[in-house]
Amino acid sequence: MSNRIGFGIDFHQLTEARELWIGGVKIPHHKGAIGHSDADVLLHAICDAMLGAACLGDIGLHFPNTSKEFENIDSKILLKKTFELVKKENYKIINIDSTICVEEPKIRPHVAKMQKAIAGILEVSLNDISIKATTTERMGFIGRGEGIAAYATVLLERI
Ligand SMILES: [Zn+2]
Repeated sequence: MSNRIGFGIDFHQLTEARELWIGGVKIPHHKGAIGHSDADVLLHAICDAMLGAACLGDIGLHFPNTSKEFENIDSKILLKKTFELVKKENYKIINIDSTICVEEPKIRPHVAKMQKAIAGILEVSLNDISIKATTTERMGFIGRGEGIAAYATVLLERI
């Protein structure tokens, strides 16, 4: 049995007049994340962690932000494509642990929907997808509501 661990991190700027997508779910908020795709910070961190575990490079290598193909794309599609890459290397996902770091809005009420969206794509159970949330206690760019960050760790098993 061969297990592999991977780590991913992502940041996005927050601004008025953008939708806020986190973990594949649209969150009602007066600000949203800026990005080439739908700027889903959690899904991007998870993609990077999966690619890292399989030693397949990073999200920018596979889905360049200069490509028209990925402009405004739903990041659930990127997650699915990443899963296909990992599956091609004969890996399955054991579990994911993640943390979203944002001052507001509150993340907790949306976690169950995020878990469902991610688990459905990655063919795992809800309790294989851990999603936590924290703030920076009003310090720094996240504390000022200028940005959002997500961190993810994934464990893969070679099948
Ligand atoms: Zn991103």
